[in-house]
Amino acid sequence: MTVFSAKEFDNHEDVLFFHDKKSGLKAIIAVHDTTLGPALGGTRMWDYQNEEEAIADVLRLSRGMTYKSSLAGINLGGGKSVIIGDSRTEKTPDLMEAFGRAVDQLGGTYIAAEDVGTSVTDLEIARRSTRHIAGISEGNSGDPSPATAWGVFHGLRAAVEFELKQKSLASIKVSVQGLGNVGYGLCELLKDAGAELIVADLNEAAVEKAVKNLGAKAVSIDAIYDQEADVFAPCALGAVLNDDTIDRLKVRVVAGSANNQLAEDRHARTLTEKAILYTPDYAINAGGIIIISHEGPSFDREKAMQHVAGIHDTCLSIFERAKREKVTTAEIADKIALERLERVRNEKARLALAS
Ligand code: NAD
Repeated sequence: MTVFSAKEFDNHEDVLFFHDKKSGLKAIIAVHDTTLGPALGGTRMWDYQNEEEAIADVLRLSRGMTYKSSLAGINLGGGKSVIIGDSRTEKTPDLMEAFGRAVDQLGGTYIAAEDVGTSVTDLEIARRSTRHIAGISEGNSGDPSPATAWGVFHGLRAAVEFELKQKSLASIKVSVQGLGNVGYGLCELLKDAGAELIVADLNEAAVEKAVKNLGAKAVSIDAIYDQEADVFAPCALGAVLNDDTIDRLKVRVVAGSANNQLAEDRHARTLTEKAILYTPDYAINAGGIIIISHEGPSFDREKAMQHVAGIHDTCLSIFERAKREKVTTAEIADKIALERLERVRNEKARLALAS
């Protein structure tokens, strides 16, 4: 088992392992970078094959959160936690309370939110042991999915504006993969804006609902890649942009909520070569983290949602700069995120010297 020599290790500030005998908790919390503020990121519960896989995941995901918050211009660092185990059979209130105690030991350096395998309810249980939990109670920011869908909608608008030179989404055809919390919400917003929808999901009830309520055309989960459309919106799984699928896409734009859409970094280049505009996943799906960054006693949902809508301008500036510098949109997103980190790091060092 390695941490410092793992290929996903990227000068992480902290990687902590927790075990609670009574509840069976085995958790890892990784704090990647706190230059911009406390490290915030979701809690993933997954039945990892082995510890190496869990370590790789927490290192990779926590680093991703640093980039996402930096690019979104918010004052949060990057962190993530993983709980090793099957969330369907091994998750208990005791285990979530023990996880809360683990989070509490970091004294606010890490703030936990929900992720795959954990729900808002689970995090509310963890909240009994620590106040360093975000994205839970209604009245505060609550479930981040509507904000994520709102952000994807605005990022998608920017991509259509840039690539298809069209300000309105009227008659724009969007193929949406995944009709979960984010995908379905996105479909509703697109429908209201006059777009045409093609949808696919494993969940037949969600597909039927989209057909009935939003007039969507349903296709099989495999056929979604072959649709003639303007935009492909992946809102289900990671690694869906790969050697097989990119060849099949008949769209001008990719803009969706899924995390880690590119199977490998080189696929950003493959998309550019096929003249498909790729909207970097962590730029377009930052709505959830943006709304969470507004949490606090004076939380104002309307103001927070306006901030989320700013994803339109963030995406537009990525597209423009990528075109100017003749590099991929993915490279530019990373560059902008790193530039902000560097600026803040330098400023902090300057202030420390001056004091
Ligand atoms: P969700 O679990 O509610 O929905 C995912 C949907 O995808 C489900 O309906 C599922 O049946 C469907 N699906 C699974 N495999 C599929 C396949 N092969 N083809 C078609 N559909 C398939 O998840 P969500 O919260 O809507 O998130 C969607 C994506 O967006 C995920 O990748 C998630 O990591 C990412 N994301 C979500 C948020 C958020 O706020 N919820 C924030 C950032 C990123």
